Amino acid sequence: MAIISVEPFILHVPVTGSSISDSTHTLSHWGVVGARVHTDDGLVGTGFTGTHADLMGDRLITQCIATSYAPLLIGEDEADITRLWQKLARHPPVQWIGRAGISHIALGALDIALWDIKAKRAGQPLWKLLGGSTSDRLMAYNTDIGWLSIPDDELIAGSRRAVEEEGFRGIKVKVGSADMARDLKRLAAVRKAIGPGLMLAIDGNGRWDLPTCIRFCREADGLDIFWFEEPLWYDDIAGHAALARASRIPVALGEQLYTAEAFSEFIGRGAVHYVQPDVTRLAGITEYIRVAEIAHGARLPVVAHAGDMSQVHVHLAHWHPASAMLEYIPWIKDCFEEPIRVVDGNFVRPSQPGAGTSVMPEKFAQFSKTLG
Ligand SMILES: [Mg+2]
Repeated sequence: MAIISVEPFILHVPVTGSSISDSTHTLSHWGVVGARVHTDDGLVGTGFTGTHADLMGDRLITQCIATSYAPLLIGEDEADITRLWQKLARHPPVQWIGRAGISHIALGALDIALWDIKAKRAGQPLWKLLGGSTSDRLMAYNTDIGWLSIPDDELIAGSRRAVEEEGFRGIKVKVGSADMARDLKRLAAVRKAIGPGLMLAIDGNGRWDLPTCIRFCREADGLDIFWFEEPLWYDDIAGHAALARASRIPVALGEQLYTAEAFSEFIGRGAVHYVQPDVTRLAGITEYIRVAEIAHGARLPVVAHAGDMSQVHVHLAHWHPASAMLEYIPWIKDCFEEPIRVVDGNFVRPSQPGAGTSVMPEKFAQFSKTLG
């Protein structure tokens, strides 16, 4: 069958409350930016990336999809994903201006759409198409209770509610603020509220420098921190390797890395313990699989970052043997025909054919922005 059209879209979906902040970002909406790919026999695949809902930036992505990539896809057999990925990623004029960034993110959205079609044509959910599920329990950990912008009393109440009433066995709390003492105080209060044994991870979003991180890890000793995510600047391999040697808290990262080569470097130099790829920043499912295999070969766990708000990753994590848990953020789930769902602290395995990316028509009407 052949691809007959590529139809870009931009959705801006509100976050929990009116806005959230971590040490680096403040946002009111999550951008779901990508394309629907149509075939000549009437199948439609949907793929998207995740953004901070900055309309100008989102339009650069949809422009890249519409003008650089769509002409390369029209008329092609949509089942030839590996060849089409190479064709787009190695298209000389695009490769020349970006092997990362906007063009890479745009390619990711299209790659996801092609996998969505492949799974729909097979009549299977993506995890099954890829080889079946390796576990029936995929633990969900909740990030949406732990933003830096949440006041202390709400953070403590929300953490307690997540574990006692909603069944989560893991939560993540943001750190990296200008007031390290406050961050430590909040963490100690959360640990006290949820009790010992449950997973409590922290995320600095790349804000601090190495000496600050070393000092922080020393002060946090005794709180049983599961991992320290993005402690340092995203590309600082030497710094993360040094922190991994200096601290007893495992290092997690990957949400800001664009390529399999970048993951190889971090893994090879001992700079990461929990590997956190994201289909929406990598060039899609094709490159995610490459990263998961590299991590698995090094015997490291893969815990995907929820740039897709876990709609696609729930399939990949149920399938791949390196993944035992996944991030939960509920902002965009109600846009989809089959939203992610957590029961008793575990992600429910999807059952609909496809990659979990089909957006309900009324949500397009509700959240669409003009392409400009
Ligand atoms: Mg993070």
